[in-house]
Amino acid sequence: MRVTALSGGVGGARFLRGLLAHLDRTPALADSTVTIIGNTGDDITLFGLRVCPDLDTVLYTLGRGVHEGQGWGRADEGYAVHAELSALGVPPDWFSLGDKDFGTHIARSLWLGQGHSLSEVTARLARRWGLPDRGVTLLPMTDVPVETHVVVDEGGGPQAVHFQEWWVRMRAAVPAQRFVVAGMDRATAAPGVLDAIRTADVVLLPPSNPVVSIGIILGVPGVRDALRGTRAPVVGVSPLVSGRPVRGHADACLAAIGVSATSSAVAALYADFLGGWLVDDADADAAMPSGVTSRARPLLMTDISAAADIAGAALDLGVELARS
Ligand code: GDP
Ligand code: CA
Repeated sequence: MRVTALSGGVGGARFLRGLLAHLDRTPALADSTVTIIGNTGDDITLFGLRVCPDLDTVLYTLGRGVHEGQGWGRADEGYAVHAELSALGVPPDWFSLGDKDFGTHIARSLWLGQGHSLSEVTARLARRWGLPDRGVTLLPMTDVPVETHVVVDEGGGPQAVHFQEWWVRMRAAVPAQRFVVAGMDRATAAPGVLDAIRTADVVLLPPSNPVVSIGIILGVPGVRDALRGTRAPVVGVSPLVSGRPVRGHADACLAAIGVSATSSAVAALYADFLGGWLVDDADADAAMPSGVTSRARPLLMTDISAAADIAGAALDLGVELARS
């Protein structure tokens, strides 16, 4: 089976790790390939280095190198470089990077500086984490630098701050008025992205943030049209349970675009291409947009096996939709 998935950071990565576990434990699916289209709207240049938080979270999680408790960053990490930068008074002080993580960003920045595209750089990093050996290809959504900004008012009138500053420094507590994606007007889909959607057997939407992860990928020219046009069923997993995000601030993001924080409302954001939608048992009564088949089941990814069961249910629903 050729599986294509759109992904943000922690929610996407944990789902995808479950997907790989499900494929590994299912003999009939052993030869499957997985193409991941990663969000790059979170990307930021810090300390002179290009950082791609969502791509790195996918790499570290699938490569068994992630800090399990945090869900992002490296396990067994040290912070000597960051401490030295602080002593030198080099900002920002609100975004910390570990020493091993710095290695990723130094390599990425070096290779980008040598003229390689983000796609090529990401493929190199993916080799370091063993993704190709597992049938996995990680594609950035675009090779053009894009950065999500958030319009907020901290008292001195509206101003746009980088998404990371809103999410990490402000903890999304200052209401977002709107999101602006700098660079999107010049963006084109990275090589392979549109084909991966068009030629898939099933397209999966992990429970990634519908606004600042999936929503940003959908803004790349051609992606939404490819999803509408693909023969593959598109099946998604709700990131909300009982009207609340399982982690993070998806509710604050939805409020900014005037959408209520419910599984139904998130499904409605995708209604023009969505075929199947998994909701939590707590939301079994959620009304679906026409054309969307929903199934209720437990949606908490408490461990890899729970995530594998969710991914398996998403694939099963995709197969069912493809037959009908
Ligand atoms: P980020 O880029 O690190 O914020 O990660 P994503 O955008 O990929 O995913 C974030 C979303 O994952 C949040 O809105 C969470 O509600 C959702 N999420 C995290 N853990 C779980 C889980 O166990 N179950 C479900 N259904 N959603 C989850
Ligand atoms: Ca993210």
